[in-house]
Amino acid sequence: MSAVDAKIVRTMCPMNCHPTFCGMQVEVEGGRLKSLSGDKDNPDSAGFLCVRGRATAEIFGNSKRLLYPQIRDDRRTDTWRRVSWDEALDFMAKRMRSAGPEAVGLWAGHGGFTAGSAMTVQLMQRFANMYGCQNWHPAMVCWGLGGFGVGLSGALKVNTKEDMAENSRMIVLWGANIASQPNTARYIVAARRRGAKVVAIDVRRTEAAAQSDEALLIRPGSDAALALAVMHVIVTEKLYDAAFVEAHTVGFEELSSHVLPFTPAWAATQTGLEEGQIASFARAYASTRPAMILLGGSSMHKSANGWNAARAISCLPALTGNFGIAGGGLGPRHGAHSATLRNLNAGMARPPGNYVPDQMPDIAKALSDGRLKVLLLLGTNMLSSFADAGQISHGLDKTDLVVCVDLFMNETARRFADVVLPGTAWLEELGFKVTNTHLYLMERALEREGETRPIHEILKSLAESVGVADFFPWASMEEVIDAILNDATTGHATVGSLRAAGGFLPLNVSAIAYADRKFDSPSGKIEFSSPQAARVGLPPLPVHSDNQASPYPLSLSFGRTLTHFHAFYDEGQALPSLAKHNVAPQLLISPVDAEARQVANGDAIRIYNERGEFAAKACVTGDVKPGVVWMRDGWVGLNHLTSGGAVLSGDALSLFHFSVGQSDYGARVEIARRQASP
Ligand code: SF4
Repeated sequence: MSAVDAKIVRTMCPMNCHPTFCGMQVEVEGGRLKSLSGDKDNPDSAGFLCVRGRATAEIFGNSKRLLYPQIRDDRRTDTWRRVSWDEALDFMAKRMRSAGPEAVGLWAGHGGFTAGSAMTVQLMQRFANMYGCQNWHPAMVCWGLGGFGVGLSGALKVNTKEDMAENSRMIVLWGANIASQPNTARYIVAARRRGAKVVAIDVRRTEAAAQSDEALLIRPGSDAALALAVMHVIVTEKLYDAAFVEAHTVGFEELSSHVLPFTPAWAATQTGLEEGQIASFARAYASTRPAMILLGGSSMHKSANGWNAARAISCLPALTGNFGIAGGGLGPRHGAHSATLRNLNAGMARPPGNYVPDQMPDIAKALSDGRLKVLLLLGTNMLSSFADAGQISHGLDKTDLVVCVDLFMNETARRFADVVLPGTAWLEELGFKVTNTHLYLMERALEREGETRPIHEILKSLAESVGVADFFPWASMEEVIDAILNDATTGHATVGSLRAAGGFLPLNVSAIAYADRKFDSPSGKIEFSSPQAARVGLPPLPVHSDNQASPYPLSLSFGRTLTHFHAFYDEGQALPSLAKHNVAPQLLISPVDAEARQVANGDAIRIYNERGEFAAKACVTGDVKPGVVWMRDGWVGLNHLTSGGAVLSGDALSLFHFSVGQSDYGARVEIARRQASP
């Protein structure tokens, strides 16, 4: 690539708002990024770029960027010494050899997936398979439990946003906040223009609520209760689609008896909604066809009850015959992919060994027990992303070696890393992204800044250093990408064919999921009653578990806003455009709860429970109901309050071909005004 010529390069935003990523065009001159803008020709985003996408231009030439490998010899200090890559890799390999493979863990966050998640996830798994080390799936901190819930019903696939815009007559944004997938907004607007009714169900009045005809604010963790009551109304008032139920579902008789106690009156006590609101929502959903439910991406699934919610909600389109039709079923959500990517590790497995499952409490325990001695953290701020961060801190403190690969320092690196390695940004490597409709090439546009390296090169060097042969048998990343894309759903696309097509190609997938009514369950039907759930000791039918009992009166909930992406860019502070929107943690609290605690808008507060405390400012607002407080995620410290408890057993974790491991991010808290320092 010439670094001197001026050129325009087509690529994608590095953030992972999938499935609705945005297209970018970058202008490069003299090897430097001159400008960055939305790609008007991108069929998914049509030129849209949000503030987070535009802010990524500030990565390059940023004085805070990590540009060289560094080692510190004493974690208690902030004294780092610049070293060569060889010295850093030797240092790591020596500690890895002395710890042994099973005491080494690999963990990547979204920062490791900016040029597309498939390559990093698959190469990490390959490294772990060949070396025999620990490796945990990133879905654990994200949509894992949601995937588990819809997986039990057999409803993994989704209709497209384009189908929603054209055909849905009712759209239910159930925990789906437009801040996570802003590109969906204009399709919702288009549907509303056609006359579609939009209902938003969430724990706060979200950005999505502003696009809706009705907003139902419910208590955190009560989604399954609401879905069960909706089923109660549909069943008892005989509003279900008897022909669909008969032909394409399993367990309707059991479900009909099961939902009898879950009346709207009962659900009102669980959700905080009025009985009449619940009944009229159920009747509207059952009588409006086609109706599409957009299930939340991750936040709603990150509690002990999260998988119950996804499971119960995914039964609703089956009861009403909405699956397999235009404008119906489930709509785009995080983790629901339309294309099938080839697994480079098919047929490979780790050698028999003692592996820590995809469960945060197990990982925390293994760290605390000294069983895990070396951690390689790729594009992640673990203190921000793991629940019960106090336990994780305790465990990290016991390790022999923590290595962080990132663009900028982050709190985990500051406190616990011994080695910091500078990673490349997405414009400095080749990648690809896939939406529900298209496949996009991400061309390398810039020379690498400083001595930055991409993750695959780091893993490759490390493999050589610890004696893993044949980890990277490909001649280039282009070959890796070609191998991963080699599937009928992509049209067996290659980097070359994408280039020839101008950077993107349509997928060979239907806009309507399950048009053939063959569902992703052992029976091939939607399973209201699930034998596989029963087999691993879970309730055979969808349930709600009320686990709200706590001496702390407020339910703490969290999620995405339009101006941040988890803890990216050192909690947003490294990029000026994001830093100005993310000055300090802010807790949304209702006027009733604020007044009861003599807290005024803007007051400095402490949020606390039995696990710890966290400082924030109060934002007194009617956007949350009494009893609920809400904060955007990503702030280090927030997860000092969350539970981190195990949710599923080891048997359940291995039920599906996709990884689901998770833990409970639920938290009950109290708040108090902080006294001003004397
Ligand atoms: S919504 Fe914003 S952050 Fe997300 S992909 Fe689009 S531009 Fe990037």
